[in-house]
Amino acid sequence: MRIHWHRRDLRAADNRALAAATDDGPVLPAFVFDPDVLQYASPPRTKFLLEALDSLQRFYRAHGSDLLVAEGDPTEELPALAAEHGAEAVFWNHDYSGLAQERDERVREALDDAGIEYTEFHDALHHEPGTITTNDGDPYSVFSYFGDKWLDREKAEPYPVPDGDALADIEGEELPTIEELDFEEPAANVPKAGTEAARERLDTFCADRIFEYDEGREYPARAGTSRLSQDRNYGTIGVREVSERVGEALADADEAEREAVEAYRRELAFGEFFTHVLFYNPEVVTENHKDYENPIEWREDDDELQAWKEGMTGYPIIDAGMRQLRAEAYMHNRVRMAVASFLTKDLMLDWRAGYAHFRERLVDHDTANDNGNWQWAASTGTDAQPYFRVFNPMTQGEKYDPDAEYIETYIPELAEADPDTIHSWNELSDDEREEVAPDYPAPICDHSERREEAIEMFERARGED
Ligand SMILES: Cc1cc2nc3c(=O)[nH]c(=O)nc-3n(C[C@H](O)[C@H](O)[C@H](O)COP(=O)(O)OP(=O)(O)OC[C@H]3O[C@@H](n4cnc5c(N)ncnc54)[C@H](O)[C@@H]3O)c2cc1C
Repeated sequence: MRIHWHRRDLRAADNRALAAATDDGPVLPAFVFDPDVLQYASPPRTKFLLEALDSLQRFYRAHGSDLLVAEGDPTEELPALAAEHGAEAVFWNHDYSGLAQERDERVREALDDAGIEYTEFHDALHHEPGTITTNDGDPYSVFSYFGDKWLDREKAEPYPVPDGDALADIEGEELPTIEELDFEEPAANVPKAGTEAARERLDTFCADRIFEYDEGREYPARAGTSRLSQDRNYGTIGVREVSERVGEALADADEAEREAVEAYRRELAFGEFFTHVLFYNPEVVTENHKDYENPIEWREDDDELQAWKEGMTGYPIIDAGMRQLRAEAYMHNRVRMAVASFLTKDLMLDWRAGYAHFRERLVDHDTANDNGNWQWAASTGTDAQPYFRVFNPMTQGEKYDPDAEYIETYIPELAEADPDTIHSWNELSDDEREEVAPDYPAPICDHSERREEAIEMFERARGED
């Protein structure tokens, strides 16, 4: 008997360690609610996690087995489960964050002590750390070279779904409720979880959006992206299954459409790049990836931080994004870049405050991608936005939401205002603003002034003052 320990691979299909374990079954699938992991969880992510586990449990039950659920430290829970069910080995897929690696090291020691074997697999990425490197064998610090190699490499086929005979005939317990895990029901609308829901999103995306992805993904009012990020992060769908479908789309595409599909593949590579960055630099979770000569003198301003969190900065595209986050536990990528630039360059507040808020609110929070992108926007990351490149929040709105559809969806106070008025909100007089939307605030800062100040802040950090 073998245990398959599900972690960030909440699916039975295209699951490398599970497929290997069932090669010589029977396999006992298990999940451990680990308090060390739960302390970094949040209501939207816990809700998604529980629903994904429920879907997985239903799959196993339909196949004559069950998902065993334990709560506690995996160094104790896994040997205990193995002893109880007479399992001689535990299988799992790698997780690449620093915390996960420390935990796995402790689990290996505990299993060694208990005389239980273990086998680990790379599954969450097409190309694991160490396989895409410079010619000298070093990890890449610049994405473009990494991306080119990633795109050129052949991708593995999906792993088979285990059949009922390979699964242990067991009965597990019911999953805990969100309250039992000490989280509240999220106020935000969280997407449906589980492999079936992920496949529906993939089907919808591959039916047409993928063929216009290169343009469609830039406009937050359009449904132009896959909306698969939470599925990728919880592993409710396998990377090989996604790539297989994308490959089919590529085969069906004409020349212009090929470019769009390739643009999507490049984003998938980008997600893997940040996982490599985190693997080699686990300290980036709390520290700047790139150090300047002097510490960056971030401002401290709780009122401005709060206005940013609440979507009350008086910059419409920023506020629409922050309110989308509140309402849907999600934000469009274009707007994520704008709000991250606004926090770090206009408000000149430390990226860590923004990252902490995103971690709490996003259903698709992923340490590697969230941190990598925040440090990119803050000009502290690897291959980051240069410090002197500061997004203009008014131009971002005008360019990417010209008809203000996205803005009006999330800011009801501006629903009656015409797009031109919205896109010149910072230039209106107080009286004009009062007349159009009395409940929507004036800008909390002057973008042009703050842009200069931010550049000076970075120049002092660079020792150029
Ligand atoms: C400040 C900031 C924070 C972010 N935090 C996260 C996060 O916590 N978790 C997360 O998964 N993504 C994060 N992203 C990246 C990106 O915004 C989301 O992956 C994307 O919006 C998810 O929607 P989608 O699946 O429809 O994207 P699609 O456009 O369909 O992208 C498909 C996949 O490509 C990858 N991808 C797309 N854009 C990026 C990007 N900019 N960087 C890295 N990978 C990318 C993701 O894996 C995504 O699922 C962040 C971006 C910014 C600017």
